[in-house]
Amino acid sequence: MATPKKNLYGLSLEELQEVLIAEGEKPFRAKQIYAWLYAHKVTEIQAMTNLSKDLRARLEAGYVIEPPRVAARHVSSDGSVKYVFDAGEGRQVEAVYMPMEKGITLCLSSQVGCAQDCSFCMTAQMGFIRNLSPGEIVGQAAVITQEKAVDGPFNLVMMGMGEPLLNLQNLIKALDIFTHKLGFDLSPKRITVSTSGHVRNLEKLGEYPKLPRIAVSLNATTDEVRNEIMPVNLKWNIRELIDACKRLPISQRDRITFEYVLLEGVNDTPADARRLVRLVSNIRCKVNIIPFNEMEGLDYKQPDLETIERFRQALNKSGILNTVRWSKGRDVGAACGQLATPVAKRGAHLREKLHV
Ligand code: SAH
Repeated sequence: MATPKKNLYGLSLEELQEVLIAEGEKPFRAKQIYAWLYAHKVTEIQAMTNLSKDLRARLEAGYVIEPPRVAARHVSSDGSVKYVFDAGEGRQVEAVYMPMEKGITLCLSSQVGCAQDCSFCMTAQMGFIRNLSPGEIVGQAAVITQEKAVDGPFNLVMMGMGEPLLNLQNLIKALDIFTHKLGFDLSPKRITVSTSGHVRNLEKLGEYPKLPRIAVSLNATTDEVRNEIMPVNLKWNIRELIDACKRLPISQRDRITFEYVLLEGVNDTPADARRLVRLVSNIRCKVNIIPFNEMEGLDYKQPDLETIERFRQALNKSGILNTVRWSKGRDVGAACGQLATPVAKRGAHLREKLHV
């Protein structure tokens, strides 16, 4: 039986060098292939016109270029688009294209499903299926920017399905490609990695030389509430998380983002606002208040506008920079916490919830 062709898409510069050495070629050609893959985003080996015809033919015999395949697109009335990618074995992952005031932002997934089990998030209902490879992470951005003809720099947020810091190795390989001059050439400042609060891996990411922006999903101001809604808090509590944030080597000009999903009657009281101020006031940060996106099967409610405004005013009064983030793409299930696709294991149960 013929051995299946290997996928070049997602390989690092070093891995491409190994491919070339195995072909008896000079390793410097790896840079050429790297630029074709990640800067020019070609999907045919034949398109790599600065490689000899002979090398192209040999590569074609053993390799393909296969970024993830789009299974569906859902266009929102607000201009955002939810892309559903095929993840094999009947699984799917989602990414969201969002035209914002300051340009294009893409929200990418890092895992199929999620193991975090946050009680307010639909992705949690899928359970954890697997980590995405570097090519599957980078490919979401490549496919969308090609299709949407995004020209020039854009912003990336790792806020789709999954916990990026639980797929740290592949996340870092993807960040290498996003930030490499011969790759996407994005400034690390344009990339935000969001975590539910994995202190150990947050510290490891802090050692990465091209540190992206960091967002932390805080979502509660007491361990009692956070334990309840985010089980990761049982491992690293609020104090440990905040201390880790203080130690991150963030540049003087930059800020950490704290995400705070407002859940009616759970974490939206004036006392919560006061505690939040105390927790973050010694950190250069901004708070993103995200009014909970209500969904079938999740027993929380979005606070009324007055409560949201009161919460925000309390932060304002204490000089805590903040914004209220109304999620995009709600009408197509693309908003924060809505990314979930029915799967076989818990499929029936979930399909019922999702009405599909
Ligand atoms: N696992 C990472 C990356 C996912 S980011 C993390 O936890 O940060 C997804 C963001 O959406 C998180 O800040 C989360 O708190 C928020 N979110 C999840 N469910 C939501 C919902 N139903 N409504 C509003 N925001 C939600």
